[in-house]
Amino acid sequence: MLRDDRPSPAGRCCRAICSVATSPARRAGNYVYDAWFHQEILDAPSNVVMATAKTPGTTANNLVFELDDELQYGMNLKQGRFFSQKNHAVGSWKMVGNVLYLEFPGAGSPQTVIAKISSRHWTNPKTGLAVDVIEPSPTNPWWFEPDLVSEDMHSENAVACREFECPVCYFELCKFPRAVVKKHSRRTCAHYFHKDCAEYLVREFKRSKTGATCPICGVPFSQVEPMPDLVTEPREWFSICDVDYGGELSEFEVIESLGSCLPVTRRKLTKQIRSHWHLWDPDGDGSISMQEFIIPHKGLRDWVLKNVDIMRSLEGSKGGVTSQLSIPALDKSPMQWFAWWDRDENGSLDRDEMIRSLIRTFCVDDRGKPSLSSAMDMREAAFGLWKSSGYTPFASITFDEFVKPYGLMDQFIHNQANCHYFGEDQELWAR
Ligand SMILES: [Zn+2]
Ligand SMILES: [Zn+2]
Repeated sequence: MLRDDRPSPAGRCCRAICSVATSPARRAGNYVYDAWFHQEILDAPSNVVMATAKTPGTTANNLVFELDDELQYGMNLKQGRFFSQKNHAVGSWKMVGNVLYLEFPGAGSPQTVIAKISSRHWTNPKTGLAVDVIEPSPTNPWWFEPDLVSEDMHSENAVACREFECPVCYFELCKFPRAVVKKHSRRTCAHYFHKDCAEYLVREFKRSKTGATCPICGVPFSQVEPMPDLVTEPREWFSICDVDYGGELSEFEVIESLGSCLPVTRRKLTKQIRSHWHLWDPDGDGSISMQEFIIPHKGLRDWVLKNVDIMRSLEGSKGGVTSQLSIPALDKSPMQWFAWWDRDENGSLDRDEMIRSLIRTFCVDDRGKPSLSSAMDMREAAFGLWKSSGYTPFASITFDEFVKPYGLMDQFIHNQANCHYFGEDQELWAR
């Protein structure tokens, strides 16, 4: 009987996972997964990854992952769906750098785990979630293997992190006052936000189950703390940048914190930091202590103060007024518009890339000045349309998909023409 219910090993698991979502086959689908986990069937299909997920104080949940070929359009993206035994439903996953994003069924935002020491064991020290790969053994298939294994969360490929942008509105962090997010008076993650945007998340998700969560790493937070001024409050600035409370700043912490307040590209800043590091870290232990930080003339603080003007002069290259004017019009040249925003030139835009493109096209005035309030409205509208169009959170869409009749482009242009979502600019945060 088990054998009758079991999907054949030859690539039919997708059907099994899909069938779980539809009620007629639900019981049979669950039975198959339950059976695998109880080892009644030892030969699970070779194209799935089986793992356990556990948070402290809860019972372990069994997960079955599969790669989503249909969304791939020939690209080697590491993303797909997973079956969650506890929820008896299907969620979405994707892997970027050493970060595994899991959007559990019914959850509004993804959870993350990091491959710190091995690709078989994924953890999130902030939420306590741990994911352990069980099958196949001893190695993961290529699509479940992280690009790197590292103690730090390498999410530079997340849309907002490619450059130093706010993960809520996708405008440059340096353009508005910044903040970090906390819970119980401790920083919950290494990411930076616009103060107004982080406060918006706290307000918006006040009544949801998890409350506000970081859009990049999924860790919940409840407090927003403005960034101190590097010039007038260097000690406070240092303490807040010390994400792991280790008393010293690592290269990672320096790049993320300086990048959040200076108009500079990630590539240029990283190059500068690496070439000067030996000056700021005279004892060569790989990190910068408070004492080293404030050494007059030689310390990192003074270097930043001396170079701030040079970095500010680079602002034009980071999407100022000039680049705003050259963005192709979505309604007149959709193909050029799509290509303009497809920065990695892979022929598709994922949800976050799409939201970023729409916000940066429409939520600015004629002089290129961003409007945070219309960015919030656009974000909400775009999230809603993406979901109601049937796309999973980590799906990517091609140009053809985007421009098909009644597709996303039609809907956005229609909404914009009707000023339905973002025409009434109340400028909640006008300054
Ligand atoms: Zn923002
Ligand atoms: Zn975060």
